[in-house]
Amino acid sequence: MSMADMREPTESGCPDGFQYMHPAMRKNFGQWKYHDDPQPGVLRHVAFSGDQVFTIKAGTQRILDVFTLRTLCDIGDKFADGFIRFTIRSNIEYIVTDEAKVQPLIDALTEAGFIVGGTKNSVTSLSHTQGWLHCDIPGTDASGVVKSMMDELIGEFTAWNMPNRVHITTSCCQINCGGQGDIAINVQHTKPPKIDHNLVSNVCERPSVVARCPVAAIRPAMVNGKASLEVDEKKCICCGACFPPCPPMQINDAEHTKLAVWIGGNHSNARGKPTFQKLVASGIPNNPPRWPEATAIVKRILKEYKAGAKDWERINEWVERIGWPRFFEVTGLPFTKYHVDNWRGARASLNASTHIRF
Ligand code: SF4
Ligand code: SF4
Repeated sequence: MSMADMREPTESGCPDGFQYMHPAMRKNFGQWKYHDDPQPGVLRHVAFSGDQVFTIKAGTQRILDVFTLRTLCDIGDKFADGFIRFTIRSNIEYIVTDEAKVQPLIDALTEAGFIVGGTKNSVTSLSHTQGWLHCDIPGTDASGVVKSMMDELIGEFTAWNMPNRVHITTSCCQINCGGQGDIAINVQHTKPPKIDHNLVSNVCERPSVVARCPVAAIRPAMVNGKASLEVDEKKCICCGACFPPCPPMQINDAEHTKLAVWIGGNHSNARGKPTFQKLVASGIPNNPPRWPEATAIVKRILKEYKAGAKDWERINEWVERIGWPRFFEVTGLPFTKYHVDNWRGARASLNASTHIRF
């Protein structure tokens, strides 16, 4: 085939977002004067040109069926200007330039069963990873945890009741695309992987699996005459990193895979340095379909944060001000040996746990 006959490659990356933008946003790109919050779930951006756009935000369940997507798009065509976008927290946002369209749009969304909110000092929609639907290593269903929790936090999503914005995240394994947020609900494995020695030599590239372990706990071994692997359980930190490249090293377990709650993570460096989250509750039952134990802990933390934080303090700032001992006192969460970072590499990570520093 000559060069002239070759077709152009089809690019499959992220498309240029400008083509989907509301014309008023394209026109005023980079020229915004200020924005404010007329009511919960609504943002108003005012440009130097005098143009203004209103953004109306509603929560969705993230994993959307075609019927729901069409419903949301129909609402956009009928009550907004036909432009939508999804946020990383699975909210849908409609953009309109005419203020008179805002309330009818909110009414249409509410009528169709969607919840408008998630702006300013509210609890925004929980962000979550793929869970059972898309990924092959989850120890829980992140979407299910999110749905259960948001059902109980609707009042905090639709109102501006919190001292500042609260970002909550969930993560369904302990190692990959998991969450870091003001409050994070993450999977916690509590036992080393169980190896199916009959399968390892057929399924796993042993050197890659050995290399994958962050604490060098995996060694090649011959078991029953077959090439396999062994785990030094004293070293293993139960992270689960060996399971994706070697599924015969099963770590998910109905009894021993738990949930843990971490708080105080903040990516932003707007007013202070970014902060790592810290473990505050561990060994919480991974209890579908409603995860009541994890939800109760999150609600308890939110209640004390709401009662004790000063205006505009984020959760990490509130805890830093009152101190970790006081945090455990007010929330009534037990401080246990599991909060102590006793991993031998902890010298470099002491500042990431809540225990006493040296
Ligand atoms: S957090 Fe882990 S299990 Fe969940 S989707 Fe991401 S990689 Fe998969
Ligand atoms: S669970 Fe983590 S620490 Fe344990 S053997 Fe696997 S990779 Fe290593």
